[in-house]
Amino acid sequence: APFQVVDVHELLDSTLVMFGGKLGDVRVVKDYDRALPRIPAYAGELNQVWTNMIDNALSAMGGSGTLTVRTSGQDRNVVVEIGDTGPGIPQDVRSRIFEPFFTTKPVGEGTGLGLEISWRIVVNKHHGEIRVESRPGDTRFQVVLPLEAPTA
Ligand code: ADP
Ligand code: MG
Repeated sequence: APFQVVDVHELLDSTLVMFGGKLGDVRVVKDYDRALPRIPAYAGELNQVWTNMIDNALSAMGGSGTLTVRTSGQDRNVVVEIGDTGPGIPQDVRSRIFEPFFTTKPVGEGTGLGLEISWRIVVNKHHGEIRVESRPGDTRFQVVLPLEAPTA
């Protein structure tokens, strides 16, 4: 599919709706900067990125905690942050999370491909960045998306 000019909030909301029933006791906090401009993007692929990050956040929290979905503008970028209150990512794990097939989940539960695919979508396809900050109780994945057309 070609790129579209999208409102990231519409994409995030449609992804959150899909998780609706699976949120359990997780509180969802949306902190959207509605004044952000639309950006050129591959909508379906960005939805895959949020889906994986939210799935990871929910499994890290194991059924209760707070999921935060935040948007902001930084320089010439829109930044989408997915945050959770899970245990965090240990340093040795942190250095490997973008490797294909790297997972700490039990066999059958994780493919270890989610973040590798997310990296390709964000970095290679949108010329953006993924930043990770994590300490116990506060893990944040930031997806940095340029306002300029990514797209060839
Ligand atoms: P999978 O979800 O199939 O394991 P991913 O590529 O999505 O594969 O994630 C790789 C690994 O990164 C996970 O197995 C987990 O160890 C770690 N990880 C990712 N997100 C989080 C998070 N929010 N909190 C703690 N660990 C995480
Ligand atoms: Mg995953």
